[in-house]
Amino acid sequence: MILIVDDKPENIFSLKTILELHSFPTDTALSGEEALKKILRNPYALIILDVQMPGMDGFEVAEAISGYSKARDIPILFLSAASTDKKFITKGYSAGGMDYITKPIDPDILLLKVKTFYRLYEQNRELNVIQASLRSEIEFRKKVEGELEERAGELHSILESLPQIAFTTSADGEIEFVNEQWLDYAPSKREFPPTHPDDLDLGRQWAKTVVSGKALDLEVRVRRKGSEDYRCHLLRAIPVREGDTITKWVGTFTDIEDQKQAVKRKDEFISIASHELKTPLTTIKAYVQLLDRSIGVEDPTRTYVERALVQVQKLDNLIVDLLDLSKIESGKLKFNKKPFYFETTLSNAVEMIRQTYPDYEIVRKGAAEVEIYGDETRIEQVIINYLTNAVKYSPDRKEVLIESGLQPDGCVYVRVKDYGIGIRKDHQQNIFGKYYRVEESANRFQGLGIGLYICAEIIRRHEGEFGVESEPGQGSTFYFSVPVGTGTFI
Ligand code: ADP
Repeated sequence: MILIVDDKPENIFSLKTILELHSFPTDTALSGEEALKKILRNPYALIILDVQMPGMDGFEVAEAISGYSKARDIPILFLSAASTDKKFITKGYSAGGMDYITKPIDPDILLLKVKTFYRLYEQNRELNVIQASLRSEIEFRKKVEGELEERAGELHSILESLPQIAFTTSADGEIEFVNEQWLDYAPSKREFPPTHPDDLDLGRQWAKTVVSGKALDLEVRVRRKGSEDYRCHLLRAIPVREGDTITKWVGTFTDIEDQKQAVKRKDEFISIASHELKTPLTTIKAYVQLLDRSIGVEDPTRTYVERALVQVQKLDNLIVDLLDLSKIESGKLKFNKKPFYFETTLSNAVEMIRQTYPDYEIVRKGAAEVEIYGDETRIEQVIINYLTNAVKYSPDRKEVLIESGLQPDGCVYVRVKDYGIGIRKDHQQNIFGKYYRVEESANRFQGLGIGLYICAEIIRRHEGEFGVESEPGQGSTFYFSVPVGTGTFI
């Protein structure tokens, strides 16, 4: 908007008409005082100012405007009497934002000057907007940088307080920060601690991790500088993300040597104890079986002997499981693979469970009439284990369904379905792990939590697949499939 300041309404009128004809919006003031008030309130693009006015003259108004920070940049076009005022104007106000036009006004010259000032004003305004946005951008960046620095500082002090060896790297894996413990193990702040000659090289492993963008969980042996003994450490590193982008990595090495040794001692103990228990138990079992056969059907002690035999068998199963576990741990679980008829093995297992649990109805569905190549005893062990669990974990619904058949990929499958207590989703991925038992039902049902672990190992060693589908309160379906191997269809 252009402000026209003149004490004569007729001058204002003619200027206003010319400018509005050319689409310039205008405002008017009849005195210097009124003009100053308006200038304080409104942002003008240009002020056309009559020099000779009663009260404040044009120069005084201009002087006052130059003192207002808000208005000092508004260009001023003086209207002056041709010869008298001109020299004052050029002398006193030769600044860039000033010009003059002499009376009587030539509309063409007026428009030319107004247009020039208006363009200047527009450019100035754009520049101001750009400058303001640049300034706010710089301020924003400074703030973000400050915050980042503060967060990095916090992270570093947390890492410094840890007993573990800790580090951070940039997104591309360059080590940026290491805590004090690092230098007890690594040659410098920029290199990883060297590992045992039989372990993976950390530099190479780290490069792979960074490329994959996935968290790392790795057991490695490292040693203190000057020490001969390597100790097992768990290296755990996670990517720190902002949105989808990795901004850095944070990692720690935790000394787990003591836990490792404790687990090893426990495994050794289980192995020795189960071996030691197995020998006398085999003798007891043989004598109880002899006793069972030697006493008459009507003998009143017969039930006691039979009960003793059932308990001895349970104990035997537990010890066999423990022995299997030790064998898996030491890599000594042997497989005696040869061709066998799958259906026969399955029927035997089902028959055995029916005899052991006569009050349960074991329903069969489908058939896998095929000869497969594998360890029959071990596969039977898996089927029996699935069935025993199905019975054990469904005390209120005495029905179990076992289905077998051939998959389109040629594998034999078995599915054992019960209608028992079921398993919560968050437990399902763990139950095939060592010693894992669902806590809620652990007191109600006895067990060691190693049966499914052994089953998993057996199926894995037959290159098969296994799993569970379950709904708490509705029951579970345990399944496995194994390739036919070098066996043939019949
Ligand atoms: P155990 O039965 O000796 O505890 P397993 O390794 O056979 O050990 O099973 C591990 C755990 O899985 C069990 O403790 C139990 O919580 C759960 N589980 C196994 N089979 C079933 C089933 N059919 N229904 C519900 N839970 C089961």
